[in-house]
Amino acid sequence: MTARIIDGKAFAGRVRAQVAEHVERLKRDHGLTPGLAVVLVGEDPASEVYVRNKGRQTVEAGMASFEHKLPADTSEADLLALVRRLNADPAVHGILVQLPLPKHLDAELVINAIDPAKDVDGFHISNVGLLATGQKGMVPCTPLGCLMMLRDLHGSLSGMNAVVVGRSNIVGKPMAQLLLGDSCTVTIAHSRTRDLAAVCRGADILVAAVGRPEMIHGDWVRPGATVIDVGINRVERDGAARLVGDVHFASAAAVAGAITPVPGGVGPMTIACLLANTLTAACRAQGLTEPKGLTA
Ligand code: NDP
Repeated sequence: MTARIIDGKAFAGRVRAQVAEHVERLKRDHGLTPGLAVVLVGEDPASEVYVRNKGRQTVEAGMASFEHKLPADTSEADLLALVRRLNADPAVHGILVQLPLPKHLDAELVINAIDPAKDVDGFHISNVGLLATGQKGMVPCTPLGCLMMLRDLHGSLSGMNAVVVGRSNIVGKPMAQLLLGDSCTVTIAHSRTRDLAAVCRGADILVAAVGRPEMIHGDWVRPGATVIDVGINRVERDGAARLVGDVHFASAAAVAGAITPVPGGVGPMTIACLLANTLTAACRAQGLTEPKGLTA
């Protein structure tokens, strides 16, 4: 059997088109332009690429993009002052502070200074609590993208066995909460899990968010299972730099029912969901009906 390949690039394109359509309507009917502010501290090259892509896609969706590039030696007080200004700015509906921050800055403190209603990354402690208690908040973009793809594929996820490998605050834990919210039976595995292969083989839905290149092989995958590979690992293969996931694609695709590739799977969904969250935040700020299908 060969798995269906889930085309995250095409899916993300459809999400962005849906967002753009809603934005157009908001402008026309309510004179409202959703705005996203992205704050980048320092000159990490990977972060610069992410921030540039976010800005470009924000503008392409018809929204306003505000980029704030601060020097690597910016003080915590100055960064917090900028966050407070953005919190108070009515043209800004979403605020994202690009992580990682330089070591002298306390990321937790900075993230928790963002107005939770504008926290489009969903990392503020209030949004974490809202998700854990099944209430409406802002949901982290990468797990939200995975959930959208799973709902699209399966319709209802109710009763399915889901295994999430990885328990980070940005991917593993929120992913598990979202799957629980959709009535999956959820197992969270991590580096101390015993017999991880057997745990993975119990999964109808297997989400890999580990950060270890091609760790999960086909013989860990239950025949017909859906495999969502969140991993993005840069490796050297035959003298060339390549991106691979946490799943060994060829062997897993021979067993799974459906699988996301790397690149072109989960990756493109993350920015698409950031745009969706910004739109949702703008609608909520104005007391307008939020778009269907773009939230958890
Ligand atoms: P973290 O490093 O924060 O977390 C990794 C998790 O994997 C930890 O919970 C760790 O367990 C677990 N783990 C590590 N080694 C093993 C092992 N041998 N067996 C079982 N579990 C293990 O990573 P992130 O959650 O931030 O990211 C995970 C991956 O997803 C990375 O490749 C990252 O690049 C990618 N990513 C992709 C995004 C996208 O847009 N597609 C967005 C964000 C991340 P423990 O807690 O016990 O240490």
